[in-house]
Amino acid sequence: MDEYMTITSLNDFIFCPYSIYLHNVYMDTDEDNYKASPQIRGKYAHEATDKKTSSTRAYIILSLPVYSEKYHLMGKIDVYNAKDKKLIERKYKLKQIFRGQIYQLWAQMFCLKEMGYEVESLAFYEISTKKFIDVAMPTEQNIIEFEDFMEYVRNYDPSTPMDVNKNKCSNCIYSNLCDKIEF
Ligand code: SF4
Repeated sequence: MDEYMTITSLNDFIFCPYSIYLHNVYMDTDEDNYKASPQIRGKYAHEATDKKTSSTRAYIILSLPVYSEKYHLMGKIDVYNAKDKKLIERKYKLKQIFRGQIYQLWAQMFCLKEMGYEVESLAFYEISTKKFIDVAMPTEQNIIEFEDFMEYVRNYDPSTPMDVNKNKCSNCIYSNLCDKIEF
């Protein structure tokens, strides 16, 4: 197993596994052609972090590329507070936290730990309200759940017949490109 998956694709996979296949097919195109406004706004929310302009404190590490050989995952973390050993993911708005977003945070944590960083707590930071939302560290059972999910992701076959959820499709950034739907 040589391929690495991006951490950000884990949440997309839960939304719809086929969207990952479409992303891989179209990822070389101009992203503005297939990213809807909520995704663009989320991307901009990350810009301050990506440009490392959010903090000048030495113990705050921003936008660190991370990877895990164990899980064959790669990506970037938003914020790591080395003093508090806290990993933080910034989101513009979090009306509700989806399981895929938790998996993303856990995945970042697994990568960081494998790279030798200590992580003792996790949180989201909602930019629009300036609030931290703490997330529990994964239990042993959670780790088994995460590993089962990773196995499922890796074995996904895009030719598998699927039930199409039209509500999801109408909010999907790939709906104009998807061959699974007929509107
Ligand atoms: S349009 Fe629907 S079926 Fe196609 S990728 Fe999006 S959510 Fe999945």
